[in-house]
Amino acid sequence: MAITQNLEILITPEQQGSYFTLPFTMPPDMETFTLAYHYERHRLSPDPLSGFCARHEVNIIDLGLIAPDGSQVGASGSDKTCFTLSATSATPGYRPGPLTPGTWQIIVGAYKVVPEGVKVSYELGFIPKQRRLFKGDLHTHTVASDGVLTAGELGWHALRHDLDFVAITDHNQLVSAASLPAIPGFTFIPGVEWTHYNGHVNFLGVDEPYSTPFISNTLEEVVTRFQTARSRGALTVVNHPQDESCGFQYDLNILPFDCLEIWNGPMREANLRAVGLWQSLLAAGKKIPAVGGSDYHRDNPFQILGGPTMGVYALSASPADILAAVKAGHAFITFFPGGPTLALTCGEALMGDSLPWQAGLQVRVAAEGLMRGDVLRLVSAQGSTVLLQAPENGNFENTYDVPGPGFFRVEILRAFLPGLPLLPALISNPIFFDEPQLRAF
Ligand SMILES: [Zn+2]
Ligand SMILES: [Zn+2]
Repeated sequence: MAITQNLEILITPEQQGSYFTLPFTMPPDMETFTLAYHYERHRLSPDPLSGFCARHEVNIIDLGLIAPDGSQVGASGSDKTCFTLSATSATPGYRPGPLTPGTWQIIVGAYKVVPEGVKVSYELGFIPKQRRLFKGDLHTHTVASDGVLTAGELGWHALRHDLDFVAITDHNQLVSAASLPAIPGFTFIPGVEWTHYNGHVNFLGVDEPYSTPFISNTLEEVVTRFQTARSRGALTVVNHPQDESCGFQYDLNILPFDCLEIWNGPMREANLRAVGLWQSLLAAGKKIPAVGGSDYHRDNPFQILGGPTMGVYALSASPADILAAVKAGHAFITFFPGGPTLALTCGEALMGDSLPWQAGLQVRVAAEGLMRGDVLRLVSAQGSTVLLQAPENGNFENTYDVPGPGFFRVEILRAFLPGLPLLPALISNPIFFDEPQLRAF
């Protein structure tokens, strides 16, 4: 729910020709900030005799904004009476950026003030972050490597296909967030696909996950690169681990990584093997979030942007919040932007979360966009249980007892063409139920 706050000041004629600031507090966890201000700018002087009404500009008050670190966020003179700001978009004249909690300052420029002074009222609006579903693609290429679209073209293409975000991951090409175009209502995530003869890895969310050239010839160099990237805040994704030509040849137990790309481009044998690898890691007790990405280079009959799509339950549209949700496993993979969606919860816990196991827990499975014949199944370390074969197109919601500790995830399988075997249309991350800790006496 939006929070509003009103500030009012009286500017005296002595202050004319000077600048001062008006502090306010940005509360934590805000997604959008708006500011509007009002004052008597014009005064009307009607003349009843002639019927003419003169309109004089009597006061001119300028506007701007300063962030807690002292930097100028924007300035709009007396041109705009309101502006909006978030991590991903801003009214022209203001730069998008994080709404850092703390003391911000409104710039007040007293350009012209009438002798009796002028009352200026400011209306501040704060919209808190709220967890919701965003759709996007975490693996794309542009003209900077072997794709055919520029980042801007890719962004507009994604927006038109119902995606909320795209990560730019060109082969061994770093890209800075500031160099990516601003598209209203759309989020770009800077990234790089570190592309090596022994494997490909996406480093996401930072301009410079490493400062050295991409080349590495020893395992030590590779480990250092991973460690550097993660210490700089990059989300580290091992890509297409089971690909025939560029699979991942390093030991996953040695290299520090965050997520495993189990679904790269169209569903095929190499992806099914990657799902199998992930399942074996989960069964071994590893809590590794799965991701998917189209590896988009250009449209072709088998590859589209958002094929597959990540469905991410993030707190806001900012790159940091989207990647934090991906890292936490609050996400599923669906075969294209219009594919089925899923919520898998246990009380307040989402997919990706861990809960201590206890008797009586129930998971809630809610799927939308099912098609007739779709098979929805719950997968654990012990195997899978079919919950539903959809009798018609539609949605599904039900709850199930959690039989014991372990993990539970959902797959929706579909026969994409009559006669074809069932293939995943959606794969969710698991909810984990940890063994209760034994108490020592
Ligand atoms: Zn690759
Ligand atoms: Zn790629």
